[in-house]
Amino acid sequence: MNNTKTQEVKTLLGTLRLNSINDQLDELLITAIKEDTTCVEFLHLALQKEVDARNAKSRAQRLKRAAFPYHKTIDDFDFGFQTSVTRRQIQQLMDMHWIEKAFNLLFLGPPGIGKSHISIGLGIQAVELGYRVIFISMDELIKTLKTEAISAKSKRQLKNIMNCSLLIVDEVGFLPITRQEANLFFQLVTNLYQNTSVIVTSNKGFDEWSEFFGDPVITAAVLDRLVHNSELFNITGESYRLQHRNTIFDQ
Ligand code: ADP
Ligand code: MG
Repeated sequence: MNNTKTQEVKTLLGTLRLNSINDQLDELLITAIKEDTTCVEFLHLALQKEVDARNAKSRAQRLKRAAFPYHKTIDDFDFGFQTSVTRRQIQQLMDMHWIEKAFNLLFLGPPGIGKSHISIGLGIQAVELGYRVIFISMDELIKTLKTEAISAKSKRQLKNIMNCSLLIVDEVGFLPITRQEANLFFQLVTNLYQNTSVIVTSNKGFDEWSEFFGDPVITAAVLDRLVHNSELFNITGESYRLQHRNTIFDQ
């Protein structure tokens, strides 16, 4: 092997930021000579390595940025236990076509029945298919919106939210919010409307939303935008946590 030439190739690969090929060039060349690979086969293999490495890196970045509170997929979900939403319904959402159309999903129901789990499972699938996803609790989202002007971190997070394809807002209605906070949320929903899909989970029915938003007009305006293009899941049943309680004592 001509060492000077190899060094020059490495410099060129560096300039082009083809880092994976650069790192593995020696092995790739040795294998190519050993296996008497054609030029086009060699090029194909090298480029494929670069593309694979880039895809893996961007997937890992997207997964990290999504900030899921736990990692559970739709495959981990027991549709035998939770029957008010069917595997077929959720399976139909797994192609993420609804994200392309900026449709929203609303999961309503009592605690422990799988609202967050399903949202996270769909979010993970969206990440796998290349979408940018952000998971945030309503409480955290309100804090972020309120501190946008004074916190660089909040500003960055809101920029990420505006650039994502799917925003998952968990636990809407858990804690009451002020009118000013409700207004900030309304503005965000308006900005995302028809551009970004939103998944909302809430332990409150829509009839109770006015109470925690503190204003029927804002509530109506928020719901109007969220519900316009959406699928609504009213989930019922027993808490999975209570039924599958971990105990301290042997039975
Ligand atoms: P919530 O409806 O309050 O958001 P979660 O989705 O967080 O409830 O579910 C509570 C816990 O129970 C999670 O650990 C979740 O993975 C689990 N869980 C709930 N429903 C199911 C189910 N049908 N199959 C498997 N795990 C479930
Ligand atoms: Mg939850």
